[in-house]
Amino acid sequence: MIRELSDLGKRLRSQQTDNQWVHDALKEETISLVLTIKPDGSLVSLRPIERKTTMAEAVQRTSGIEARLLVDNCGYVIGVYDPDSSVFKKKAKEKGESRAHEGLKKDVAAKLALFVHRLDGLGDLEELAPVLKFYKSNKEGGIGAANQAYFLNNIAKKDRAGNVAILVSGDAVYAHERESVYRRIIANYESRQLVRLSSSSNKIQCSICGREEFPVGDFTHYPIKGVPGDKEPAGGRKLISYNGDNNPFESYEMVGNENCVICTNCAKTYVEGLNWLLSDGAKTTTKKNKEDIAYSHRWPRKRSQNYNVDTAMVFWTRENKALPEIDQLEAPDPDEVARLIDSVTSGRENDSRYLEPDQFYSFTLSGSAARIIVRDWIETSLHDFRASIAKWFKDVAITKYDPDLKQFKTHYARLYDLARSCQRKNSDGSYDKDDASLARTAAYLWNAALKNTPLPLWMLTKALQRARLDNHGVTSDRAALIKVILNRNIKGGGFMITEGMEDGSKPVAYVCGQIFAKLESIQYAALGDRNAGIRERYFTYALTSPAAAFGRLFNLNSKHFTKLRTERPGLAVTLDKELQELCKDIDIRRFPANFALEEQGQFAIGYYHQRQKQFSAVTKN
Ligand SMILES: [Zn+2]
Repeated sequence: MIRELSDLGKRLRSQQTDNQWVHDALKEETISLVLTIKPDGSLVSLRPIERKTTMAEAVQRTSGIEARLLVDNCGYVIGVYDPDSSVFKKKAKEKGESRAHEGLKKDVAAKLALFVHRLDGLGDLEELAPVLKFYKSNKEGGIGAANQAYFLNNIAKKDRAGNVAILVSGDAVYAHERESVYRRIIANYESRQLVRLSSSSNKIQCSICGREEFPVGDFTHYPIKGVPGDKEPAGGRKLISYNGDNNPFESYEMVGNENCVICTNCAKTYVEGLNWLLSDGAKTTTKKNKEDIAYSHRWPRKRSQNYNVDTAMVFWTRENKALPEIDQLEAPDPDEVARLIDSVTSGRENDSRYLEPDQFYSFTLSGSAARIIVRDWIETSLHDFRASIAKWFKDVAITKYDPDLKQFKTHYARLYDLARSCQRKNSDGSYDKDDASLARTAAYLWNAALKNTPLPLWMLTKALQRARLDNHGVTSDRAALIKVILNRNIKGGGFMITEGMEDGSKPVAYVCGQIFAKLESIQYAALGDRNAGIRERYFTYALTSPAAAFGRLFNLNSKHFTKLRTERPGLAVTLDKELQELCKDIDIRRFPANFALEEQGQFAIGYYHQRQKQFSAVTKN
């Protein structure tokens, strides 16, 4: 898995043409403030800018402090701390305000000293003379003035926390972006690498790339940002950590603590690959016109859908190809789905499978404090990936009557909607955000769709529970979910649910569902929607204790018929005939005493199919 991520990171690097500064010694950073200085080293201004990414020296800050060359946060660059920050507030609470001030003052003084110390090695670069003057010979007009500007300028809190870049007025690029500076950073890095390589224990073959070109060892790996879970620590979380117990990879036998042999180059590229998978996407807006991101390699596909979700799936192919099939899972287009199913089943795909060496990868991640937990890992050929998705759509396909077009059509549910159809709702009909099962359900659905695996039966319990309690009952999405759970759990000759109404021999529970829907329509014909429908009152009862419930329902039904016969005799005859037709399929004097879980699912589908049929009859008449 690390190898595939590292390969992706290397591929991304090779595709980067507009930025020649791609190197292990450099890392993308975001800047939010610019400190402009005159050639004599005096301050011009300290101003926020719109956030911008830039290449800067890659530094590790796991233990102690380390200054990044020429660009860093306010503590390092200006030697100030933010008395409004949570860090200060926390310290003040623990130790009192004056001790907190004292402590942080010392902290930023040390950081500034370190930052200035790093400049010593740049004395020979004339173009940086103004920066050296700013910190050394022109302190009062330089760093001193900047220190004051920080407090006087009323900089927004989010900008105060970001990085500050230094600009010498008249220059086209920031000081840290100068070619000479990048060259210096890389040269320093390479010489450190050489020192590491000269130690024999670091000159071992890397288990990822198989080379001895870069040193290996437990150099701390860079953090990864944006994995959902509990609160993400500042900076991000680590996929591989060397802190000892609970290494997430032990179960995958990837990397043990002591014998980790990943070189510095692979360690950097796998982090770049994963960070890209987690963040790459296009800016968009939500229905409420808020900023959103449509992710290109992550599911759920939108940032707005990732709130309250504690897992994320990322996916890609070795060749980094576009995957339109994943888009279909998110927004199925019936024509495209039909084409996919056709191309897989007709065998045209089979012929070309050996010509398609590309592989599909996906894994499920979740964050826990400083670590990332890998919950699942999928690796499959592109051919099998497509076949699984085609199979998935066949399994979730369910008929739905379209009253506008006055015809039945195949409903292909979105993966996300299927997950949602199990989510608890509040009394006002909105989704209950505390229902943590959404993420778990989503992860199972994702795997089932991509690996053609069965879904757990607890999901059927959930779907039926929602069908009973939700105002909308057995929706098309719920019916689709129930169908795929049932069909994928059948062992040896069980009843396969088809997309549309069943004509041949049907299980009793399925017929009971149909009869229930018919009784519901008779009540509606007799009473209108003045009373609570029988679904609200009897669905759960009929699902769990059919014999007792149907006894009552038929009693109730004869009363509805008496009324209907006097008011609408023609309709009464038709409905009665239809009811008798359904009852022919089972012995109505001997309804079962109860239904097992799978039978309850069949009941729900029978009910759904019958309802769709009745909708079509209503609109046709
Ligand atoms: Zn390597």
